[in-house]
Amino acid sequence: MSESSANTATLSALRAALGAERVLTDPATLDLYASDDGPGHCRPCAVLFPRGHDEVVALARIAHDRRLPLVARGAGSGNVGGALPTSGSAVVSFECMQRILEFAPADRLMRVEAGAITAEIDRLARGRGLFYPPDPGSAPYCRIGGNLAMNAAGPRALKYGGTRDYVLGLRAVAGDGRALMSGCRTTKGVVGYDLTRLLVGSEGTLALITEATLRLLPAPAAVGTLRVCYDGSASACDAVQRVMDQPIIPCALEFMDAHALAAIQRAGGATDLPTATHAMLMVEADGEAEQVADQLQALQQVLRGPGLVEIKQALAAEEVARLWRARRALSGAVKALAPLKINEDIVVPISRLAALTAGIEALARRHELPIVSFGHAGNGNLHVNIMVHPETSGELARAQACLQSLFETVLELGGTLSGEHGIGAAKRAYVPLEIPAETLALMRAIKREFDPRGILNPGKMFPDA
Ligand SMILES: Cc1cc2nc3c(=O)[nH]c(=O)nc-3n(C[C@H](O)[C@H](O)[C@H](O)COP(=O)(O)OP(=O)(O)OC[C@H]3O[C@@H](n4cnc5c(N)ncnc54)[C@H](O)[C@@H]3O)c2cc1C
Repeated sequence: MSESSANTATLSALRAALGAERVLTDPATLDLYASDDGPGHCRPCAVLFPRGHDEVVALARIAHDRRLPLVARGAGSGNVGGALPTSGSAVVSFECMQRILEFAPADRLMRVEAGAITAEIDRLARGRGLFYPPDPGSAPYCRIGGNLAMNAAGPRALKYGGTRDYVLGLRAVAGDGRALMSGCRTTKGVVGYDLTRLLVGSEGTLALITEATLRLLPAPAAVGTLRVCYDGSASACDAVQRVMDQPIIPCALEFMDAHALAAIQRAGGATDLPTATHAMLMVEADGEAEQVADQLQALQQVLRGPGLVEIKQALAAEEVARLWRARRALSGAVKALAPLKINEDIVVPISRLAALTAGIEALARRHELPIVSFGHAGNGNLHVNIMVHPETSGELARAQACLQSLFETVLELGGTLSGEHGIGAAKRAYVPLEIPAETLALMRAIKREFDPRGILNPGKMFPDA
């Protein structure tokens, strides 16, 4: 549905509520909002730019009355087509809702609008000796509403947890325009059902989140990093298990397999790796400066073991940044390897990580496809990238078969299909592999209660009925 076929009365009602300049239907804007960082492309019929909670209530009422599908959008950095418009939908962009509404250092909280940029929240908190721990790689541009909807996390989740662990309360708007408040502004509170935890990770299917009250922590004074090289994935995964089986919790424990290292080197990074390196860990500790040095020393002890090639330690900020540069360059470096990257985000228990990487190598051989794996090993969460040349005959079909086998392997190992990227449009067909039919039916019933006409992010998260 384009402007010409969109219901003009609906657009007029939206223009009356938001102002004509906040309801855009020109082709250039529609193209700009037709995709996110995941697969797929579909022009919406309009892009809406509300300026506050009340305008979101108003637009949701209009959309409910006129059955207009709404797709919430932060920065569009999601990898699974969560913010991908569906035919005839309007995108609700939170770009004009970026205000920091309250910063209360003594209460260790910040109240923000859904469009606030994640790194900006952290930057402001650090100005008062606090920090906002969730650190997705996209933090410099992604928005807190998107983080909440996907329960985003990053390397620090190992020690500090993900977005869900830093939300005290939310303000949101259900699919029929009902305004709702959840949680409170204290770190303890047990009144009513925990709707906050229900909305976090709901991928824009239950409500449009308009404001969040976020919990902050005192910022660690120092960090130190170890770059640890091994002769292969099995040795590196065994080391991860040893680290997790002792009392120090690193604030990051990242893994890269041989293919990921080769991709970085092809892009000009990590030129100083010993040639015997076929897998690598990045291990970070934080705290007071003396504590960090002690922790790194203790961690080095457990990281030493069969297959170790080299350990490099960095305590100076410049040196730490240099070691992390290679890890941060990875997403782009992997993208350059093939025209299509099927980017998975699976999780297994730490004790099964070595079995997972062995299983991935077996799948790559069986399906004759390169698979690049890296990620948050301390959480058992690997980004598994199946690299595909769709124009090569049969390769796409092999990739699909490989993906199905990957998910089956993960579930056999006691894992889950997604650790942080969510389901969106891309993975919904696979959800029944993990969630039993009766549980899915209960989830659909909850969805109907929040969104009786099914206008919020249709075609996402749930498999076709
Ligand atoms: C280079 C790169 C690195 C990344 N690194 C990480 C990482 O380390 N960890 C991680 O978890 N993810 C990562 N991601 C994925 C992505 O950045 C996260 O999922 C992020 O949370 C998305 O935020 P966004 O503002 O871009 O949301 P969008 O992509 O715009 O939207 C994501 C979902 O949230 C919904 N949504 C957005 N705003 C709202 C709202 N206000 N109310 C209700 N629903 C809403 C959308 O409908 C959609 O379903 C990365 C992506 C890229 C491109």
